[in-house]
Amino acid sequence: MSAPQPLAGPLDLRNRPMHDLRISVTDRCNFRCVYCMPKTVFGRDYPFLPRQEILTYEEIVRLARLFAAQGVAKIRLTGGEPLLRKDIERLIEQLAKIPGLELTLTTNGSLLATRARGLRDAGLQRVTVSLDALDDAVFKRMNDADYPVAKVLAGIEAAAACGFAPVKVNMVVKRGCNDHQILPMARYFRGSGHILRFIEFMDAGNANGWCMDEVVPSAEVIRRIDTELPLVTVDPNYSGEVAERWRYRDGSGEVGVISSVTQAFCSTCTRIRLSTEGKLYTCLFASSGHDLRKLLRDGSNDDELASAIADIWRKRDDRYSELRSAGVPVTHKIEMSYIGG
Ligand code: SAM
Ligand code: SF4
Ligand code: SF4
Repeated sequence: MSAPQPLAGPLDLRNRPMHDLRISVTDRCNFRCVYCMPKTVFGRDYPFLPRQEILTYEEIVRLARLFAAQGVAKIRLTGGEPLLRKDIERLIEQLAKIPGLELTLTTNGSLLATRARGLRDAGLQRVTVSLDALDDAVFKRMNDADYPVAKVLAGIEAAAACGFAPVKVNMVVKRGCNDHQILPMARYFRGSGHILRFIEFMDAGNANGWCMDEVVPSAEVIRRIDTELPLVTVDPNYSGEVAERWRYRDGSGEVGVISSVTQAFCSTCTRIRLSTEGKLYTCLFASSGHDLRKLLRDGSNDDELASAIADIWRKRDDRYSELRSAGVPVTHKIEMSYIGG
């Protein structure tokens, strides 16, 4: 187990440090995953953010430096689909210069085959690729954009060849849609060096028609794999790691499960999210954010911005998943494609 990063910076009301920053660089996407941006809501005339409302790269880098100075040790670029943002490599180059930061990106993989080399050269350290099925028809039903599996697999291989190995592969499991793909995915990625992680379908946003019946609990995912491919648990890499790790008994690799619904991990949650237009959210399920763009554009200096960020974190009391487990309803939530997964 590697040593945890030293943390300096504010603690929230539940004594949690601010450690991971997720930056959504665009609210647009070329997929319409049924659990994230269903076409019924994100149709042709959906009002995506106009350019002037989106944080510029200079604004993002300025904020990233301030977050790093307050204990953030890891930045994940996400979206929407982050590779759709023009010249994202230019942003990565600048973020990579901030000392002590781990820099990662989550992508649907559609553009990765051609972009992996440039991302690596720009200084990106790790990449996570989302892939929900191996079967083409199932995958196309999930992404609802007629996008074939083969191109995402090519993206994963290109990323590994460019130095991103091991690539993490995220599969959202939705009962009745792709849960019969759990074993084919496990068989395919076992022995490949990539790390497959199964994510419980979450009630993020208000658009995806979530219901508990469609959640496949991680314990069931592990049971199903273990029956054919025996598994043993692995210690977490660090305290607060979101994925629970398992390895194949025969030494052929590792899988993970992210149990946001059935095993809330709010007590160790160190994540904060910056939306495409510069709103700061202290929880994936928050109903409102704090407007940092206003401060960036009204002439506030770095000290003022830094103290605004620290104040927001110190007042943080979020524990949505724990409350959901306790049966407390939350109605208005921000969409995942906007806030960044
Ligand atoms: N477009 C990129 C991608 O798909 O990897 C990055 C953004 S996406 C919002 C980030 C992650 O959130 C993906 O791995 C996606 O599968 C996951 N996600 C989106 N909606 C979800 C939901 N309702 N439940 C669980 N995971 C979800
Ligand atoms: Fe796009 Fe990612 Fe959401 Fe799918 S999960 S619609 S690829 S943002
Ligand atoms: Fe963190 Fe909110 Fe998720 Fe709990 S529900 S783990 S506080 S993001």
